[in-house]
Amino acid sequence: MRNKSILSEAKEIQIVTELIRLGARLQVLESNSNLSRERLIKLYKEIKGVSPPKGMLPFSEDWFMSWQPNIHSSLFINIYNYLIAYTEVRGIDAMIKGYKLYLEHLELNQMEQTLSLTRAWTLIRFIRSQILCTVPCNKCGGNFVVHAFDLHPNHVCKLCNIPSRAGKTKKTTRAVAAHIPQLDPA
Ligand SMILES: [Zn+2]
Repeated sequence: MRNKSILSEAKEIQIVTELIRLGARLQVLESNSNLSRERLIKLYKEIKGVSPPKGMLPFSEDWFMSWQPNIHSSLFINIYNYLIAYTEVRGIDAMIKGYKLYLEHLELNQMEQTLSLTRAWTLIRFIRSQILCTVPCNKCGGNFVVHAFDLHPNHVCKLCNIPSRAGKTKKTTRAVAAHIPQLDPA
């Protein structure tokens, strides 16, 4: 599709710019735009002032299973699913909007960002390809990210079963995760 209208190209540049500002890696930009790799790199340099990092994305699905990442991933995916269920936004727009809402939740609760935009994007891909899914916690009813191939008859989430090493992050994490059940569109 080389004969694009100026308007659709402008829209693409706008989306890519937003993605770069939110911290997206080059691979994320490439799969969400028809702009050439050269133009994407140029845009990246213009916005960030440095070249995009090279190499493959290092992310495996296991990252989403460790304690803090699992809570952040679950929070994000609940926001995203809520947007899909109750609004008109779709695709990359839904991801950007969901990610911004996730960042807002962190700011409100004074928590550190754990899930990068690139990881959020990877998470959606893992869920679409049924490597990961969400299941409700048997205790709190919130939806949490799990391996799709595991069995989850009585899943207890990582908030209802906090490891002792979690220490002082416990309280603020609970505050953030309090949104998880409310955002459950089911
Ligand atoms: Zn729970």
